Amino acid sequence: MGKRKPPPPLPEPLPGLVDAHTHLDSCGARTPEAVREIVDRAASVGVARIVTVACDIGEARFVIDAAGWDTRVSAAVALHPTSAHELEADGVAEELESLAADPRCVAIGETGLDWYWLGKRDDVATPEQQHTSFGWHIDLAKRLGKPLMIHNRDADADVLADLDRFGAPEVVIFHCFSGDASMARECVDRGYVLSFSGTVTFNNATDLQEAARLVPDEQLLVETDAPFLTPHPYRGTPNESYCVPYTARFLADLRGMTPEHLASATTENARRVYGVTS
Ligand SMILES: [Zn+2]
Repeated sequence: MGKRKPPPPLPEPLPGLVDAHTHLDSCGARTPEAVREIVDRAASVGVARIVTVACDIGEARFVIDAAGWDTRVSAAVALHPTSAHELEADGVAEELESLAADPRCVAIGETGLDWYWLGKRDDVATPEQQHTSFGWHIDLAKRLGKPLMIHNRDADADVLADLDRFGAPEVVIFHCFSGDASMARECVDRGYVLSFSGTVTFNNATDLQEAARLVPDEQLLVETDAPFLTPHPYRGTPNESYCVPYTARFLADLRGMTPEHLASATTENARRVYGVTS
């Protein structure tokens, strides 16, 4: 086994950014002190707010706690599509609903469809369970008037079909957007918000880069999805919210705008869609 690679160095600060999607607990922060350390490190390079996202019921409890420990943290609550079967367990739907209704929860996510892991892992929810859970979360987002944060892996057409079938909420965010230009155009036309992670910086990501070029400023977010998907040239090292400026600068360059303009546009979007003031 190789040695664990060291984390990326602190980037040059880019003030006024929001990490639109991360997982603080998966980054190792499970106490108020550890959360503050990660948020302080992010703040030191200009990342002023972090949205930490739940994938299962245990994490849903954690993200609400974390958002209570530090006012710079907001929460998103849902079952990840691969954990969609948890919805069938006693009391889970009721508890998720009450956590999602908490003012610290600013989005219903991450939910959606994941066809990638089917047949690769034996703990993954079936397609039927994923469709049912996605529909339940769509309905929850509409009832609570909160944005829907989508995880889509290898399921472009089916995600769009479910949004049509169940009826999309007012605000739909595609977290870690992974489609090509035609999928991006389809999402843009529907008024959806596209959030780009470090994957857009990868050398072989030409289709994704083409997609990122055509998204209007008003429909763009930037995220880490930490601890995964560390931006180039630090791919394979641990990601954390302080790495947002790497992806933001890459995106700005790709789109022919200044990093400062990209930071202010994406932060304005984050404030609008998540309903946060700072
Ligand atoms: Zn995620």
